[in-house]
Amino acid sequence: MTKAMRMMQQLVPLADGIIYVLDARCPAASFNQKLVEMAGAKPVLYILNKGDLADERADNLMKLMDASAIKINAANANSKRDITAAINRLVAEKREKNLAKGYSKIFRFMVVGVPNTGKSTVINLLAGSKRTVTGDKAGVTRGKQWIRLDGFELLDTPGTMPPAFDNQSLALHLAFVGSINDDILDLDDIALELLGELYEKYPKRLEERYGVTGGSKLEMLDCVCARRGFVLKGGEYDYERAERAVIDDFRKGRLGRITLDCPADMSGLKF
Ligand code: GDP
Repeated sequence: MTKAMRMMQQLVPLADGIIYVLDARCPAASFNQKLVEMAGAKPVLYILNKGDLADERADNLMKLMDASAIKINAANANSKRDITAAINRLVAEKREKNLAKGYSKIFRFMVVGVPNTGKSTVINLLAGSKRTVTGDKAGVTRGKQWIRLDGFELLDTPGTMPPAFDNQSLALHLAFVGSINDDILDLDDIALELLGELYEKYPKRLEERYGVTGGSKLEMLDCVCARRGFVLKGGEYDYERAERAVIDDFRKGRLGRITLDCPADMSGLKF
C-alpha cells in the first residue's frame, strides 16, 4: 500500500463525510474506487471541478454518477454557494433525524482527490479568511484543523488520493490533465497520445489550431511545428517545443472545452 493510501486510511475515519473532487474532463480517470470503499456509509459529495475546461459531454458523465454530483469551476467565487448547498442537501436527512432525536451534530467533511483536481482551490473558496495558518509561526498548532463553516466543518488540508492505474487509457487522461507528476512521464508519449486522442474526439480543434487534417501522430506533430514555427537553428523541427505546446494548449483550454472520458469509462464504477 502506498504512503498516500495509508494517509487516507488514517484521515477518512476523522470525517463524517467526503467531498471528492474529480476533474470534469476525466471524472472516471480521477476516481479511485478504494476511496469510496474507505468511506463506507459516509456521505460523499462528488464535485466535478474545472467545469470551465470541459464541454457538455461532462454533464452526461455526471448523470451516470451519484445524484448529488455537481459540476463547478472552483476558480469562480459563485461556486461557493453551489457547493455549500450541495453539502447541506447531502446531510439534510441525517440532520433532521438527529434533530428529531433532540440533538444537533456538526458534520465534518474532508476534501480529497488525485493531485491537481483543485482541492486546495475548493478549500480556499469555502473557507476563505477563516482558514487558519498552521505551522509557520512558533506556538501555532501543527496538525489537523477543522474550520467552522455554514452548518458544517471542513478539514483545512486536502487528502491526496493516489490514482488507480488499472486502465491504461484512463491513466493517460490523468497524465494529459496534469494529475500525474510530469517528471515521471515520457513527454513524447504523452504529447503523441494526446494528439491521437484529440484527433479522434475533436478533429476540428486540431485543424483550427495546428492545421492537422489527419496522418500519423508524428505527422500531426510535424503540422504543429510547421503551423507554430517551432524550428531549430539547423532548420529541423523542434519536436520537444511542439510537444510541450500541445500539452500546455490542452491544459490551459486553448483547444476549447474538452471532455476526455466517455460513458463506457464509467461502467463498473460504484459511486
Ligand atoms: P490540488 O492539487 O487538488 O489541491 O489542486 P489546486 O487547488 O492546487 O489546483 C490546481 C490548479 O488548477 C491551480 O492552478 C488552480 O488555479 C487550477 N484550478 C482549480 N480549480 C479550477 C477550475 O475550476 N478551473 C480552472 N480552469 N482551473 C482551476
